[in-house]
Amino acid sequence: MKEIVILSGKGGVGKSSLTAALAHLLTEQGTRLTLADTDVDAPNLHIVLGAEFDRSTPVTASDKAIIDYDKCSRCMRCVDACAFDSIIGDTEPIIINYSCEGCGVCSLVCPDEAVSVTPVENGQINFVTSGAVRVVAGALGIGESSSGRLVDIVKREARQEASLSGSDLLLTDGPPGIGCPVIAALKGADYALLVSEPTPSALSDLQRIAEVVRGFNIPAGAVLNRSDMDTKSANTTRNWLEQNDLPMLGEIPYDPYLAQALARGDLAVKMYPDAPSSLAIKELHKVVEGLLD
Ligand code: SF4
Ligand code: SF4
Repeated sequence: MKEIVILSGKGGVGKSSLTAALAHLLTEQGTRLTLADTDVDAPNLHIVLGAEFDRSTPVTASDKAIIDYDKCSRCMRCVDACAFDSIIGDTEPIIINYSCEGCGVCSLVCPDEAVSVTPVENGQINFVTSGAVRVVAGALGIGESSSGRLVDIVKREARQEASLSGSDLLLTDGPPGIGCPVIAALKGADYALLVSEPTPSALSDLQRIAEVVRGFNIPAGAVLNRSDMDTKSANTTRNWLEQNDLPMLGEIPYDPYLAQALARGDLAVKMYPDAPSSLAIKELHKVVEGLLD
């Protein structure tokens, strides 16, 4: 089984829509596919696919400090020791759960062994079926941290699902950014597909995510979405890719049909198969099929 992860370095460039369209075309052509939605802050791949959750399981991927007030002598050392200002109070320590990073320093400085750091539920994993595609999607609880650990769990569950269903491909819709969740999504991938668009800020994001991918020695290629939006910026991106030995796998033109299909909760490749964006994504899908070989 191959693993391809789709990343963008930022949100809003059409990563999830492209993931869903590729998944649709690949399964239509007989590829057995499992999808992982690792954008745990804003999971929406199932919405783009128009699918509902089959089942959900809670996930414990975060640690928080808890004070046993029966043991606490109110020395207030933990308030000074917490680097995240997550313990407040003048006469009694109060932990602010949202900002506690679970580092355990408060437990180390406590003279009364009154603080313990325990694992807590911080999100859930949702299992979705969309036609022949199984989707494993992580969802971080509101205000929760440890998204990287949650992504790690989503990838593990998705690999298990892919293995059980005999998938040829695990296609991962990656999180935005270049931090911990992206690194967790990238681990073990055979190929990274980097989505960008022709704007200076998108190029900057592309450069940063390309550097992360290079650090993992994972082969990568780029897709330019809304490629005809600005000729000058598109050429700048093309030149940068060439200078950095990153192949341009496909260019998708700006297409109002794409937006119309999205507004109706459907895929343009299904609703408008001959629209310019659909034709470009079909070409890209052949390139992705080639990567599987
Ligand atoms: S575990 Fe760390 S972050 Fe949380 S309250 Fe204790 S010292 Fe602060
Ligand atoms: S360090 Fe321990 S004893 Fe002191 S205030 Fe904090 S929890 Fe209470």
